Amino acid sequence: MNRFGGPGDGLDLTNGATEVFVEVMMLAVSALAREPFQYRFAALLAAQDQNMVGRGCVGFDLDEVAWGTTAEERAGVRDFILSTVDLAAREHRWDELGYEPPHAQGYLRRFRHMVEAFDPARAERAPGRGAAPDDDALAMCVRHRVLALAEWHGYCAFCTR
Ligand SMILES: [Zn+2]
Repeated sequence: MNRFGGPGDGLDLTNGATEVFVEVMMLAVSALAREPFQYRFAALLAAQDQNMVGRGCVGFDLDEVAWGTTAEERAGVRDFILSTVDLAAREHRWDELGYEPPHAQGYLRRFRHMVEAFDPARAERAPGRGAAPDDDALAMCVRHRVLALAEWHGYCAFCTR
């Protein structure tokens, strides 16, 4: 199990479900990220690869997202995350998954509600947390056209399957 924490019960996903959630979100965020803060969220997602980190060893709390410091920045981050969820929910590039993700819409819906209900102004960052990788920590995997962490030699979530 992996936990994506936030308002309400958060989102607890089995290892297999986590893989699905991360893959559909990576396909969407790779299409949308343009600005440094958007790449930062993409890097946080890219870091949720259980084949690199370990099965059952990923997940994050919404207060680990780099929300920025002003209300405007926080609103921009929230909008971007919601746009990413919405693009994923429109099944962006799902034909490339190689499987049918029957429950993915449910995970996306629950995650969306969490993000909507989350108040980033009250995000409490424990020491050592909130250390989302910098935007230059990302590379585009040419083979899969998906963002990947440079420190993992640009292997994306689809390379490491
Ligand atoms: Zn790849």
